[in-house]
Amino acid sequence: MVPPGQRGPQPGAAGDLAALAELDEAALLAGLRERFLQQHIYTDIGDILVAMNPFQPLPLYGREVSERYRRLQTDALPPHIFAVASRAYHAMLGRGGGGPRNQCILISGESGAGKTESTKLLLQHIMNLCKGNSQLEQQILQVNPLLEAFGNAQTVMNDNSSRFGKYIQLRFQKNIVQGAKLSEYLLEKSRVVQQDTGERNFHIFYYMFAGLSSEQKEMYGLLDPSLYRYISGRFGTQEVTECWKHKYQEVRNALDMVGFQEQEQVDMQAILAGVLSLGNVTFEPEESNGPVKVSEASQGWLKAAAGQFGVQEDELLKCLICTTSVTRGEQIQRFHTQQQAEDARDSIAKVAYGRVFGWIVCKINELLAENVNPEVELREIGILDIFGFENFAVNRFEQLCINLANEQLQHFFNHHIFQLEQAAYKEEGLPWETITFNNNEPILNLLLAKPLGLLSLLDEQSAFPQATDKTFVDKLNSSFKGNLHFQPARGHVLSFSIIHYAGKVQYAARGFLEKNRDTVPANVRGLFINSVTPLLSVLFTGKSLCVSIMSQGPSWRELSVGMRLMCFTSGSARVTLGMLQPGVVLLASTISRTGTLMPHVKTKVIPGADDKFNSTRKQSAGAQFRHSLMVLMERMYSANPHFVRCIKPNNQKEPGVLDNQVVLLQLRYNGLLETIRIRRDGFSWRPSFEEFAERSSKTSEYFFLDIIWEITPITRYGQYGILLVKPGAPLTKERKSRLFFKYWHQEQLAKCL
Ligand code: ADP
Ligand code: MG
Repeated sequence: MVPPGQRGPQPGAAGDLAALAELDEAALLAGLRERFLQQHIYTDIGDILVAMNPFQPLPLYGREVSERYRRLQTDALPPHIFAVASRAYHAMLGRGGGGPRNQCILISGESGAGKTESTKLLLQHIMNLCKGNSQLEQQILQVNPLLEAFGNAQTVMNDNSSRFGKYIQLRFQKNIVQGAKLSEYLLEKSRVVQQDTGERNFHIFYYMFAGLSSEQKEMYGLLDPSLYRYISGRFGTQEVTECWKHKYQEVRNALDMVGFQEQEQVDMQAILAGVLSLGNVTFEPEESNGPVKVSEASQGWLKAAAGQFGVQEDELLKCLICTTSVTRGEQIQRFHTQQQAEDARDSIAKVAYGRVFGWIVCKINELLAENVNPEVELREIGILDIFGFENFAVNRFEQLCINLANEQLQHFFNHHIFQLEQAAYKEEGLPWETITFNNNEPILNLLLAKPLGLLSLLDEQSAFPQATDKTFVDKLNSSFKGNLHFQPARGHVLSFSIIHYAGKVQYAARGFLEKNRDTVPANVRGLFINSVTPLLSVLFTGKSLCVSIMSQGPSWRELSVGMRLMCFTSGSARVTLGMLQPGVVLLASTISRTGTLMPHVKTKVIPGADDKFNSTRKQSAGAQFRHSLMVLMERMYSANPHFVRCIKPNNQKEPGVLDNQVVLLQLRYNGLLETIRIRRDGFSWRPSFEEFAERSSKTSEYFFLDIIWEITPITRYGQYGILLVKPGAPLTKERKSRLFFKYWHQEQLAKCL
């Protein structure tokens, strides 16, 4: 028998590259390339949407386009990010079969590939689809500019790079959006105090300088931007400054629109001004080898920072130049070295900024929380915009966390793709044992296992006061000896390597313990809790009781986890905090973590997944991240997934240029080649009935007829796989839109041949 001479659709001709006859690396690249050069930036690969960053505005997202992609069946339309949004929306509502279900959309790709733009487009189109609660829809659309101002920065890779990961959950009742919830992951706080060459601090700092009037600047105690070390004195050209000014207005509008109060906005800006002044405080030894003091020239900055933070100057000073600890009831002060004082300064700045960001997210969640009728079930669409796999010249704790998240996502992706293939084969009665995928579970185990995974070992070491990054590395080397995914460093270098699914990454272990401990010194917390700036005090409030509270208002409303109960009464009796039990109905006067005073309401305390009831022990950074990942993965595994893989066509951010090497590497990191491998080992050519029949009649591919009446025989010629179904099998023709295999009738075939 001759293998079919004719190939499937030519690369670039169709929107779905999974339909390519020869589905390999080269064909995929060629297909993507050809489409990209014709400005077809979106391509389907089976049920994955590949989005190439055009690095230029394209007329693809107008109202009419959005209208066209409203409907459930978008198959006839070219691949588009709106089509993904429509599919998710309709599937959530149970249209097209399958019953209503939660949906999640995973967007991945490296920095600058277009994830955040894609997220915005998805939100835009979904809000367009669900027209109903227009105020809330507008608020939801305002969340992005807000988050971007505080969480994005200019980097070498991307002028508007998100320095945090996010998961947005849009919550619906029937087809109307009722609320939204945001989760953020791993804000890059270190950027507040230091930026690499060619990079900047978070946008908001520049926006403030450009947007505030001179009176306002005076009020906040802000001087000329060139004076501030944390923004490296780098400011913009006239043109850029104009743009920032505009952006500042946008942020203020967004804050108003989402519902931040004026006083909160003022407090927030005062804190940011305080961060900048603090950054200018420098130190020098009192005399040689003596304790440090604030250098003469920066006394003014210390004073300014204290004023902006609303704290006592000498208290702030103490936090900078010494550490206070309590041993056997006695307070012991230990003076810092110059280096330690500088570190203390930077860590205060980082923690203050981090708390402001966390507060903004919290506040957004409170303001956008749904107020719903509990009788009607809530459904959601989640959108994940998170950093892709990272492998830099120096990889730190942050990279480990990011790469761990990507391992999890890859696992989820494999699971989904593999399951899908398997389900399709099962339905066709095909043997599928031959299909394997690169299971990355061993890597996840290496990182997450308890008690001997990397994060657990890190926690164990972090709990030892004597442990150092070196003892941590020694521990890893002995625990993971012989592990295929772990490589100790050669020589005495303080590092180790992990063989990730996307390749080997060497991690520098320096700073792992400290970052994992992630403690705010007690005196710093005390300093800020006593601030006269209400917001700052709220941000650092000590033991916040983390309980979910259901308050009975006009309708039940879930308040955000982390509410702090100030006082509450049950009937006429005052109840002490210790007696608070899940399930008890109380009258409560509560203050939320964001400082909003809630009115007296009838409140029922319910145990929630995040409850750390009565627990004051702080979790390590690693444990917190592991926990938030776990919550995320649980959500995703229980939802119906959609995948968007963003690709950066070149590193120069140039329109119309595609660099093969750059793209290939991303296809690999993205798991697209792996998907293709799974497909190729399986049955990759999935022609429609008409296509098959047409080809069979034109070429000599009649050999299929010989076996057509066998039960589900699959003939594989090279990479061709054709499915033939026994007559009499239940042929309902495209039973499920997700299934690629088509069922053919004998009569239909006969007619065509
Ligand atoms: P990521 O979030 O993956 O780091 P972004 O979404 O911020 O990347 O995209 C980086 C830049 O690329 C954007 O600021 C924008 O200039 C450009 N870009 C991305 N997607 C598109 C698009 N669909 N159309 C036009 N420009 C885009
Ligand atoms: Mg981004």
